[in-house]
Amino acid sequence: MSKLIIGLTGGIGSGKTTVADIFAEYDIDIIDADVVAREVVKPGTPALKQIAEYFGSEFILSDGNLDRGKLRDRIFSSPDDKQWLNSLLHPLIREAMNEQCLQAKSSYCFLVAPLLIENSIHKAVDKVLVVDVKPETQISRTTTRDNNTTEQVQKILDSQVDRDTRLAHADFIINNDDCSVDELKNQIELLHREFLKLVIEK
Ligand code: ATP
Repeated sequence: MSKLIIGLTGGIGSGKTTVADIFAEYDIDIIDADVVAREVVKPGTPALKQIAEYFGSEFILSDGNLDRGKLRDRIFSSPDDKQWLNSLLHPLIREAMNEQCLQAKSSYCFLVAPLLIENSIHKAVDKVLVVDVKPETQISRTTTRDNNTTEQVQKILDSQVDRDTRLAHADFIINNDDCSVDELKNQIELLHREFLKLVIEK
């Protein structure tokens, strides 16, 4: 079991995956909340069965997987349904994340969660690392990566906590603006050493 769990977060397109991939090169275990969230509704899971019963079988694709797009549209227009879904999935996701953190073998590990603050997951980790960029950078990098429009990215940005709120929860900050991937690697190397020191002191 890792001695230190670090919550890694940042807004859309801030560079969480890029940062986590670099830490993984140091053999640090990475638990990804988005991956866990997909695992708890895999075909055959009790949660998927409950979703089909509540929303209808048309929310299940012919290959047995959840129709995420359809579900996203539904909960976007129905706060009650969103609340029902969250109360089903959040405890399951939390439990699965805890379990994976317990299984982590590296001296410290990361829990990567875009909505770490929004979903209060920051309370379950030892330290919070925020990948910080300007909103303009979030928009330009995400539109380049995903072929989304500025309006689509802005909408997601608006649904997340604002930059100042996120930074107020940070124990450590990576500045990923105007920074090459090599410069990012330098920041990460320094942080890696700092985290190892924290593990030794714990
Ligand atoms: P999401 O919230 O959408 O999952 P994310 O926070 O995981 O995104 P990444 O996918 O890591 O963000 O990065 C967004 C895009 O920006 C990617 O295409 C990535 O390659 C690019 N990127 C990240 N950091 C840098 C950098 N320092 N310089 C140039 N491009 C970068």
